[in-house]
Amino acid sequence: MDDKKTRFLRDRKEPAELILPETGPTAVRYARAVVGFTTRVIHTRSVEEVLWLLTDDVVVDLGFEDCVVYLLDEARSKLVQKAAFGNKKAGPETILEPIEIGLGEGITGRCALLQEPVLVNDLATDPDYLVDDLERRSELAVPIVSQGKTIGVIDSEHSERNFYTAQHLATLQALSAIITTKYENERALKGLEASQRRLQHLVNHDSLSGLPNRHCFLSELGSAVEHYLAGKLSSVAVLIMDLDRFKLVNDSYGHSAGDELIVGVGKRLRARIPDAHLLARLSGDEFAVLLSNFQSGDPERLCREVLAELEAPVSLNAADVRVSASIGVAEARSDRASASALMRLADGAMYKAKAHGKGCYFLSQSGLQVEALSDLNLEQAIATGLESGQFEVFLQPIVRFSDRQPVSFESLVRWNHPEIGIIQPSHFIDFAERSGQVRDIDLYMIRKVGRLLEMLEEKHETVTPIGVNVSASLLSRTDWLGRLDSRWFELGLQVEVTERALVADVSVASETLQSLREMGARIYIDDFGTGYSSLSYLHRLPLDAIKIDRSFVDSLVEDQKSRALVRGLVALGRGMGCDLVAEGIETEQQLEELRSLDVDCGQGYLFARPMPASDLLAYLQGRWLPEAD
Ligand code: C2E
Ligand code: MG
Ligand code: MG
Repeated sequence: MDDKKTRFLRDRKEPAELILPETGPTAVRYARAVVGFTTRVIHTRSVEEVLWLLTDDVVVDLGFEDCVVYLLDEARSKLVQKAAFGNKKAGPETILEPIEIGLGEGITGRCALLQEPVLVNDLATDPDYLVDDLERRSELAVPIVSQGKTIGVIDSEHSERNFYTAQHLATLQALSAIITTKYENERALKGLEASQRRLQHLVNHDSLSGLPNRHCFLSELGSAVEHYLAGKLSSVAVLIMDLDRFKLVNDSYGHSAGDELIVGVGKRLRARIPDAHLLARLSGDEFAVLLSNFQSGDPERLCREVLAELEAPVSLNAADVRVSASIGVAEARSDRASASALMRLADGAMYKAKAHGKGCYFLSQSGLQVEALSDLNLEQAIATGLESGQFEVFLQPIVRFSDRQPVSFESLVRWNHPEIGIIQPSHFIDFAERSGQVRDIDLYMIRKVGRLLEMLEEKHETVTPIGVNVSASLLSRTDWLGRLDSRWFELGLQVEVTERALVADVSVASETLQSLREMGARIYIDDFGTGYSSLSYLHRLPLDAIKIDRSFVDSLVEDQKSRALVRGLVALGRGMGCDLVAEGIETEQQLEELRSLDVDCGQGYLFARPMPASDLLAYLQGRWLPEAD
């Protein structure tokens, strides 16, 4: 190649013999073509587009019959046709079979090699001339050069001898310089993009295992939770796994063995966990998985698979070691889920798994979560919940057995915790009783139910009475009665007190109940039969209805004694002039038994589970559909 270049240099004829006129109509026309080209190049997106712009729109102004633009390939060994005007163009911006010319071949190759323009006024005299489609008489090739290297050639051939002028040459050189600028910009941009991608990879990946890192995991989790809250994802869960006995490996075999173990475990996990789930290394020996849009039970299944996967020993340079993992799982459960809460809950569950002897998984469920909450001060959490309206009214209908129509509802509190989701009263009512906060909860529920009754009336619905549960501690005082709106009782607010609450201090309880009665409340005695109340004072209390506890209903079908007991309770209730309501009816058989024992109303899953207050209207209007279990 160098020999060829030397020969070319020796034999070359100076195109500079041509004299460039500075003025005249042609000069002006060509200058305009260059200016027009420059302006339009600004709006192009790629070098290839610029080349087509040149061949399609500019060379025609220069009176050319033909023009081809070549770019040097990556190996810098051949020029490949990229755009063309005239015969060598196959169609709009298409080249069917790109012409390829070796570096140094023909006039074009010579131009590329010399890195300077080559003008041949009579091709018949040039031994290097290669005929491609048609034999031509003259040719002008101008190199496109960037940073001292040829990157391509603009080549034009013409059927007349001596066709090309100094004007043509100067114009092509100007156009070539513009192409160079675009080419360099594009290169710089591509370089920048590539280093940005490398940087992004470094920011988001762990250099040891090659897995996404904590930063990446948290940002992906953040957007998954956002999509979940927007209803675009049906589910989101986090698994946090921590290797058991990792420290032992590190301490016994050294840190490089520890590193090897992390890499080995990372590979195994990646192979086991479906690609759709994001696997990340959070830190040290802690990994995490992000699951979304999964089927119920998938997170547990994955936990089991991961634990099984880790059973086989991992081969390290120093030894074969066995590891297991402790896994904690947290699932988004409410419209107030957050990434940080999921991480905290999964972490808490992971520590529970560790405490349970390692090599196992733990799901962060409401119960466990409330346990975690109590560590963090359940009292404060309840106070915040009351202030920010996290407690919600759920309603369960009490139906008349004869036609299964609701005669009233019982309101049951649910805590819609921002991080945990719906928490059942069994997880916090006892605590609230001990902390005294149950009074606040009861009053909160009474106000909410009162407003609900008002709303029903405003909507001209048949207002069905609603009962609220009043705790022993509220019953032992009377100072709250003045805060109640007596209209609520007119609209159907009823009161349920447990038998046990009455036993606590019967004289105060009786006074409070009396006042409530006077305000218009119907009084139900709840969980009847479980509170060891003395018959001697029961008859002195102002009671309207007795609720037979679920425990009797449960055993009614199998147990003769339960039947006898219920028969006794019914007789007692009737004797006191009370209505009877059975609790916790789950089967048709229980219903039949109760009917045969002369009970005519009750509540239970057989009819409806407690529903959010927002479903009440639909239920009353017969549009309510029970949720599938
Ligand atoms: P409760 O007043 O005896 O309420 C009846 C409980 O039985 C409710 O449980 C209800 O969801 C459940 N239940 C209804 N039908 C069935 C059934 O067919 N099968 C079964 N297995 N259970 C059924 P929930 O809502 O968990 O409430 C538990 C207890 O928490 C209530 O028992 C009540 O003592 C207390 N509670 C609920 N809300 C409040 C409140 O606002 N204030 C106070 N002080 N206590 C409340
Ligand atoms: Mg109740
Ligand atoms: Mg009850």
